[in-house]
Amino acid sequence: MYLRPGTLGEAVEALAAHGGRVLSGGTDFFPTLGDRPLREPVIDISGIGELAGVSVTANEIRIGARTTWSTLVATPLPRAFDALKAAAREVGSIQIQNAGTVAGNLCNASPAADGVPPLFALDAVVELRSTAGERHLPLEEFITGYRKTAIRPGELVTAIIVPRTIEGRSAFLKLGARRYLVISIAMVAAIVESDRDGRVSQARIAVGACSAVAQRLRALEQDLVGAPIGSGLGNRVTREHLTSLTPIGDVRATAEYRRDAALTLVRRALDACLPES
Ligand SMILES: Cc1cc2nc3c(=O)[nH]c(=O)nc-3n(C[C@H](O)[C@H](O)[C@H](O)COP(=O)(O)OP(=O)(O)OC[C@H]3O[C@@H](n4cnc5c(N)ncnc54)[C@H](O)[C@@H]3O)c2cc1C
Repeated sequence: MYLRPGTLGEAVEALAAHGGRVLSGGTDFFPTLGDRPLREPVIDISGIGELAGVSVTANEIRIGARTTWSTLVATPLPRAFDALKAAAREVGSIQIQNAGTVAGNLCNASPAADGVPPLFALDAVVELRSTAGERHLPLEEFITGYRKTAIRPGELVTAIIVPRTIEGRSAFLKLGARRYLVISIAMVAAIVESDRDGRVSQARIAVGACSAVAQRLRALEQDLVGAPIGSGLGNRVTREHLTSLTPIGDVRATAEYRRDAALTLVRRALDACLPES
């Protein structure tokens, strides 16, 4: 069974009635299917206009579940979103960015999902809808493990919401085996806010592809508060700040290489958040 509802209401009704899988841009959906035939009902949400696009209000920025990476890049957003936009430009190729959605990247819950570290750093919240109603979950609670999410049967992600309380410069750095169209070996997002005295008032740092789920480096974030904004910020990062990471060794890199790469990327990402002198 293949259904392509035109409204959100029809989509949640269809999910409640038939179950099945949600299809959005299809850029993860079809590759993960491999050679297996599709046996479950498919609810294709690509025709639901109300889920598309980014809206900006005084309190929040709302990324609709059908927002593609290309649309995100084209939308004017505060500089704290520069990291997310940089990640968007590195998701696959232009064709993938035109079809794939930010929400699909989160629902797929791959450890190497490039959208996750920048959205962790932005304290993003996931909005879910079913016939039972609406609920909101912090993204860090939404992704529960390797390719696992807290999504319940009959639920659909409708938006990703970012509070407008976060300011500051942000950066995203990704290391792959080549420069373009590549799965991350490690990636880092950082947002640094400064006070009037030129010191760090808040730092937000998340590392991806070095554990089953991306991680915020909260001990490091704490240690950076009060540090002067200037060259040498990145040098404050030590190996100990990254001990919570649990990288694996695979065809792309050894665990030790990943750990070392993450340290270098965190340092460089922090330095990339400094104002230009
Ligand atoms: C060639 C290629 C290169 C790629 N490169 C990268 C890369 O560099 N970095 C990276 O992070 N990813 C990459 N990807 C993966 C993919 O493009 C992204 O994860 C993309 O953002 C997925 O979005 P989508 O809309 O296509 O999701 P889909 O493929 O439509 O869905 C993915 C999963 O999420 C579920 N889903 C989607 N939307 C919803 C929703 N609103 N509610 C509930 N469930 C939902 C689906 O059921 C499915 O399980 C690549 C893929 C390909 C094919």
